[in-house]
Amino acid sequence: MNIGVLGGGQLGRMLALAGYPLGHGFVFLDRAPEALEGLGSRIIGALDDPGALEELAARVDLVTYEFENVPVEAARALARRVPVYPGPDALEVSQDRLREKTLFRQLGIATAPFAAVDSRPGLERALDEIGLPAVLKIRRLGYDGKGQAVLRERHDADAAWTALGPSPCILEGFVGFTRELSCLGVRGRDGAMAFYPLVENRHEGGILRRSLAPASGAPDADATALVRRLAEHLDYVGVLALELFEAGATLLANEMAPRVHNSGHWTMEGAETGQFENHVRAVTGAPLGSTAAIGWSGMLNLIGAWPEPAAILAVPGAHLHLYGKAPRPGRKVGHVTVRSDDATVVADRLDAIELLIRGAA
Ligand code: AMP
Repeated sequence: MNIGVLGGGQLGRMLALAGYPLGHGFVFLDRAPEALEGLGSRIIGALDDPGALEELAARVDLVTYEFENVPVEAARALARRVPVYPGPDALEVSQDRLREKTLFRQLGIATAPFAAVDSRPGLERALDEIGLPAVLKIRRLGYDGKGQAVLRERHDADAAWTALGPSPCILEGFVGFTRELSCLGVRGRDGAMAFYPLVENRHEGGILRRSLAPASGAPDADATALVRRLAEHLDYVGVLALELFEAGATLLANEMAPRVHNSGHWTMEGAETGQFENHVRAVTGAPLGSTAAIGWSGMLNLIGAWPEPAAILAVPGAHLHLYGKAPRPGRKVGHVTVRSDDATVVADRLDAIELLIRGAA
């Protein structure tokens, strides 16, 4: 099949790399598809350019996307011409933190307490309701910790509102979580679902640095039940990621991503079927592949720069993925996965690679 992809970043690149062996072709639409050198065929244009969308629809059998800030209207326009997976409703919910958390609440999926904030006085009212500490986040277009501010004291409100207002915001209670987890599920066109083992994620400065899978002693059954509820409600097709805070015995949903996810990159070598292949299988209506882990895996993001590839590849069990993007501070330019049948070996090797990464930064 010919698969259209909205967006031309590293996730699109890895979708193509997983989809070629299954016999599929790819057409990407992006204004500047930097991560796709030599891959697929490309339509250079804005994601809401009617002519570009028309051309895409004419050239493909179905459309998917590799990032969630695709204009919903563009996805809806495409959906009138060709199947779009996941459907535009999932995209729309995930673009707005307030709608997303409201849906979680409606589905009985626990979250931190939250309130909408549309003005400076509204922030005061929300602080009365939520209490401190709290996190103020813009409702739309925030990512990797951007567009958010932690409020520890009441007088932090001015600086936070100056930084983020007048964008519509959401105020959330600050969660003193034990760890951050993510649950990735994949749902086929026929409604069949499979789930990867839970992943433990460590962030620095709001950006994912390290993922470990399977997360030890994690509440897999509880988390997969939440992802299933969400996916069935949205009649979802493809890989769906749910980011969770584990606070003691409680799981709180933070956000969902209607796409393949950074915390699932380990599955490329660490699971029977990687998330990219399973997404392609799902959207093309093929049977899903096994999501079972093969031993233990860890993933480190390469952010801003990368070490000498040979130094990474000299570490046994290491797999390097460079995205073909120009180095720039704070930018995800690649990742490294380590897989072993022994969890302590994975941890030791990740530490060794982390030293190389910090040396290159
Ligand atoms: P987000 O953009 O919502 O994924 O947030 C980025 C990171 O900020 C998360 O991975 C957490 O480490 C942290 N964070 C976000 N929301 C909260 C919260 N309500 N309480 C505590 N930490 C948070």
